[in-house]
Amino acid sequence: MQRTCPTCGATFDHDPASKWRPFCSRRCKLVDLGNWMEGVYRISRPLGVDDLEDDEALLNQLMADAAAERETDA
Ligand SMILES: [Zn+2]
Repeated sequence: MQRTCPTCGATFDHDPASKWRPFCSRRCKLVDLGNWMEGVYRISRPLGVDDLEDDEALLNQLMADAAAERETDA
């Protein structure tokens, strides 16, 4: 199935089993997540310690993914 990536606008062959859906790639998923988190934190009240607990695992995962992405590009 052909789909359009929400991040980069590329048309790609959509794999229902893809980890990155609805994006075309890991990169685009990370870009979207980064934009989303940036917006959430910008519009939300100042973060307290309690707010960070739930997000810490996600943040750590994002950081690890970003680091891996950089290594892949190098
Ligand atoms: Zn894309």
